[in-house]
Order: sequence, then C-alpha cells, then structure tokens
Amino acid sequence: MTKSIPKKLFQLLLVIIELSKVAEAQEVLKVASNIKQLKLGIEIDPKLALVELKSVVPNIRYDLKYATKENFTGIALYPRKTNTTYLRVDPAIALGHVAEELKSKGLGIHVWDAFRPYHVTVKFWELIKDERYVANPSKGSGHNRGIAIDLTLYNLTSGQQLDMPTGFDDFSEKAHHGFDALSETKKLNRELLKTIMEKNGFIIFPTEWWHYYWPHGEQYDVLDISFKRISRFKKVNQ
Ligand SMILES: [Zn+2]
Repeated sequence: MTKSIPKKLFQLLLVIIELSKVAEAQEVLKVASNIKQLKLGIEIDPKLALVELKSVVPNIRYDLKYATKENFTGIALYPRKTNTTYLRVDPAIALGHVAEELKSKGLGIHVWDAFRPYHVTVKFWELIKDERYVANPSKGSGHNRGIAIDLTLYNLTSGQQLDMPTGFDDFSEKAHHGFDALSETKKLNRELLKTIMEKNGFIIFPTEWWHYYWPHGEQYDVLDISFKRISRFKKVNQ
C-alpha cells in the first residue's frame, strides 16, 4: 500500500463534505428559479400566488427605486420600465385593508419596493455585507419571498409624501424605530404607519422605519423570477 492512497481518500472525503454542504444550503433555502415551480406551488396552495398590488390596494402609487439609479447602489437593478410590484395573497389583502383605513384619513400608500428577485439581493450583499440593512443571501429575504414591503404615506389631496424620519434606504441610526431626536410630526407619522401596519398583521423591522413584513415567512420559497416573466405568466393565467 502506498502513502498516496490515504491522502486521496482524505481529499475525496473533503470533496464529499463540501458537496453535502452545498446540497444542505440549497435545501434550506429552496430558491424557485422558474415559473413552473411557482405555478406548481400555487396549484397546491393558491395563497402562494403573487398579487399585483394595484389590483387590490386602493390609491397605492409606485416609486420603484431599484428600477432607477436613485437607490443606494447608484445603478438600476430592475428593468427600467418596471411598473408592477407584488406580494403574496395574504400580505396583499392585508395591505388592501391598510389602504382602506388610510383612505378615511385622506392618506395613501407610496411604495418603494415589494417583491424582489433573489439575484438582486445577492448584488446588494456584495455591496453592503451588513445584515442590519441587507439580507444575507444564504438566508434569502422577505422581499425575495414576496412578503416584505418598503413603503411610506402620501396625502391624497396634495400628493405630497408625509414627513418621515429619513428618505428610503437611509442606513443611519435616524432610520431606527427607537430613534427619538426628531420633530413631533416625524415621530407621529412614523407611529401612524406602524400602528396601521401592525393592526393589519405586519411586523416592523427595527432598523428601517419603511420596511414591514408578513409573519411565517418560512412557508414561502425564495423566488428568483424576473418581473417580465411574472407579468407574462399572470396575463396568461388571468
Ligand atoms: Zn425592505
């Protein structure tokens, strides 16, 4: 017996360990990267469908920052003309209830982002690498699962956004829910959004006043499907 055999066996063992790690990560994350997987899931559980928000949320208006250069990366990460955004059925319906309640106060929902294809989260991570602000791709994010939304409020009469603690994607302490060195108006507006979102089942994110998510995210797979593919699928299936 030569000395090289145990070495080769050892190398083989290392390869097997690495491969099992990859398999484990893929199994935990379950990235659905084609429309057929999404379609199959919806056939089993219709609540997994992605709902275009304008179809169920009155007065909602879109300002999808990742379809423009006006975001923290300075590059457009979604196709330029993207004018659709989605959530799964339960959070979409809950958001409709939020909007109804806001309407009675003369307010509407202004959206910066909702469903986000997984490959965009991978790009964010390469740029920021801080879990307080962007999701670690090994876990996937609520946006990738179609259960998270970034939003603010606007006045239905004037069209003006309400005065909030910061703009979108401000990664400073000012964006934290506990940050208090603010005007009364900003604190009240942040609180108003929080109260209505929580009342309708959404959960706050402590470091971003604009980000809310739906509970039980684990029941929704991470999706890496483009906006174009989703809208084509929806047209065929409506
Ligand atoms: Zn968000």
